Amino acid sequence: MAAVGDDCLFCRIVSGEIPADVVAETDVAVAFRDLNPQAPLHVLVVPRLHAADAAELADAAPETVAALVRLGRQVAADAGHDSHRLVFNTGPDAGQTVFHAHLHVLAGRSMSWPPG
Ligand code: AMP
Ligand code: ZN
Repeated sequence: MAAVGDDCLFCRIVSGEIPADVVAETDVAVAFRDLNPQAPLHVLVVPRLHAADAAELADAAPETVAALVRLGRQVAADAGHDSHRLVFNTGPDAGQTVFHAHLHVLAGRSMSWPPG
């Protein structure tokens, strides 16, 4: 497994050691605004459990993947958005830069397909 705890940026945000603009929390996940937003709403939903990517999280704790999706829907709805895009970048070629699983929640503008 990749970096955990002290070495992992999102473990440090989840523990409160590094501040973030938190918009929602549950017993299994923390949702905070992305530092480099790509839409009017851009939130990362991050499991408290460290897993390197979404597939590893699905193996370790499948119910937590469902919890991330539900929290993503709630964050978008609470911000007044009927539509939202959910993204799990998995692997460097897909654009993953932080190797602690996280769900991007994007909303507030029309979006094109395919993504870049
Ligand atoms: P990914 O490229 O899918 O791994 O997504 C990582 C995301 O984390 C990027 O969109 C970054 O802008 C975001 N990010 C990096 N550091 C922070 C931070 N300290 N607080 C909030 N978002 C961050
Ligand atoms: Zn971590």
